[in-house]
Amino acid sequence: MANTKTLVVIKPDGIKKSLTGNILTRLSETKLRILGAKVLHVTRELAEKHYAHLKGKPFFEDVVKYISGEVYDEPYRRVLALVYSGEDAVGKVRKLAGATNPEEADASSIRGQYGRITSTGIFENVLHCSATPEEAEVEIKLWFEPDEIIENIYPTETKEIKVKKRIWK
Ligand code: ADP
Repeated sequence: MANTKTLVVIKPDGIKKSLTGNILTRLSETKLRILGAKVLHVTRELAEKHYAHLKGKPFFEDVVKYISGEVYDEPYRRVLALVYSGEDAVGKVRKLAGATNPEEADASSIRGQYGRITSTGIFENVLHCSATPEEAEVEIKLWFEPDEIIENIYPTETKEIKVKKRIWK
C-alpha cells in the first residue's frame, strides 16, 4: 500500500461535544503521523470551496453553515484541522470514521459512535476525512499553507510577496 496523506477536520459538533480527545485517540490507533494541526474559524469562502463537489445538492447551504459553525454559538464556531500521513492514510481514516450517514455508519466507527442526524436533516458526523489521495492533495492545499506542514509533501515555490500581518506587541 502506498504512503498517502489525508485531511481530517474535527467539525464544530465534535468540538462542542468535547470529542477532540476521543477522536484523536481513535486516530492514533492507526499509527499514522500528524504533519500539521491547527484550530481555525472556517470562513464561508473556505467552506464553499471545500464542499464545491456538493454544489447543487439540496443540503449544500446547510452543510456550508454546519462546517463554518454558523449554527453553533461561540466558542464552538471552530474546527480542528489535521494532516495525517502514512501507509494507506486515506483508507485507514475513512474506515475508522465510518459511513457519511451516521445512522448507516458501523456502530463502532467514530461517526457511528458519536454522529447524529439533526431534526433539520443535517448529517452531523463529527469529522471530515478525505475520500481519495487526489482529493486529499486538493484539500490539504486549500486548508494549509506549506509552512504549516512539518514535512515537504507537495512541490512548493518561493515568492516574495508583501503582506500585512498581525504580530505580538
Ligand atoms: P463525506 O464527508 O463522507 O466525504 P460528502 O462529501 O458526500 O461525504 O458530504 C459532505 C458532508 O455533507 C457530510 O459529511 C455530511 O455532513 C453532509 N451530507 C452529505 N450527504 C448528506 C445528506 N444526504 N443529507 C444531509 N447532509 C449530508
